[in-house]
Amino acid sequence: MKTEWLRKTIQDFEPYFVAPIAEKHVINANENYFNVLSIPAVKKELLEALDSFQPQIYPKPMADGLREVLADYMGVRPENIICGNGGDEMITYLLGTFLNPGDKLLVHTPTFDMYELGAETLGASAIKVKDLAGYRRDREGLLAAVKKYQPKMTVICNPNNPTGDLLPASFIEEVLKAADNIVFVDEAYMEFAQKESVVSLINKYPNLVVLRTLSKAFAFAGMRCGYLVGDKEMIEAIAKIKAPYNLNAFTQLFAPIVVRHKEELFKIRDDIVKERARLYDELVKIPGLTVYPSCTNFLLVQVERKHEEIFKALKAKDILVKIYRNSAELPNAFRISVTTKDVDDTLLSVFREELQ
Ligand code: PMP
Repeated sequence: MKTEWLRKTIQDFEPYFVAPIAEKHVINANENYFNVLSIPAVKKELLEALDSFQPQIYPKPMADGLREVLADYMGVRPENIICGNGGDEMITYLLGTFLNPGDKLLVHTPTFDMYELGAETLGASAIKVKDLAGYRRDREGLLAAVKKYQPKMTVICNPNNPTGDLLPASFIEEVLKAADNIVFVDEAYMEFAQKESVVSLINKYPNLVVLRTLSKAFAFAGMRCGYLVGDKEMIEAIAKIKAPYNLNAFTQLFAPIVVRHKEELFKIRDDIVKERARLYDELVKIPGLTVYPSCTNFLLVQVERKHEEIFKALKAKDILVKIYRNSAELPNAFRISVTTKDVDDTLLSVFREELQ
């Protein structure tokens, strides 16, 4: 294949690479450790629903049943929601709906790569506002940049991946007031913060669109289910470029069952939040290590030395964390998904042994 056949904007892109995973404890992708099928009622309801399941029929284009359940969960109307194959697909749709070549997308950094990559694919580019020391967002810098550039889209990941930092809803409202254009708030991890969602502002601000996903707190990453919440016209605009049958029938069948069992899942969420606090308190005590406060299901950690050795020592104990290599923004960093005490105790013993 000739490189010049490729769309010019992606000629330098590297394909998304996931190395084969051999470790037992995979805590590198912020997944939830819990299997929803271990809730007997979930399994029973799924099996019952399968009795009338028709895989030969196309799924509902707007995932009507799921939309209703999600609308109820979010406290909005079904027409305020559009669903798809995970938050990733919804980001692609959102950017594809609004960005023209040459447009600017404003985002804080470091954050989730998909916004910038998606913008660049479309020939748009990112203006980045660097975090303050300690990876907390530069609120003044962000507001000043919104006013100065009036970008086509401002993106706020809240709480932020990979830093865990949570911005108050009041700050996001300031951004909404300052912005002439779209404000996109990615709340993929909001269930772990349990406050500061801006979903309740969608009726007040027609330029606001919020991303949520079932991949994290709802332990549903493998089923791929994400959704955007916004004003009805915003949702209708995004629907223009959506593939007609984007969300498969099995996910449409299974996801509402899981959402209806949210109370069981929120107990697991509460355990993860408690475990995050314990892991944080233990990591803070280790010399040569910095850990950042987090409102998510993961912790960002930096080490003064032995970065690669620690990664290997963790692997030897069957633990895979996310390692940032050659990263100017996140030097000597790891991102660790919080799961259970036994995994974290092994992880802590490795950090202690290597750094003490
Ligand atoms: N937003 C953020 C900030 C994320 O970290 C992720 C997952 N890594 C996503 C969106 C997309 O998640 P999914 O496609 O599984 O819904």
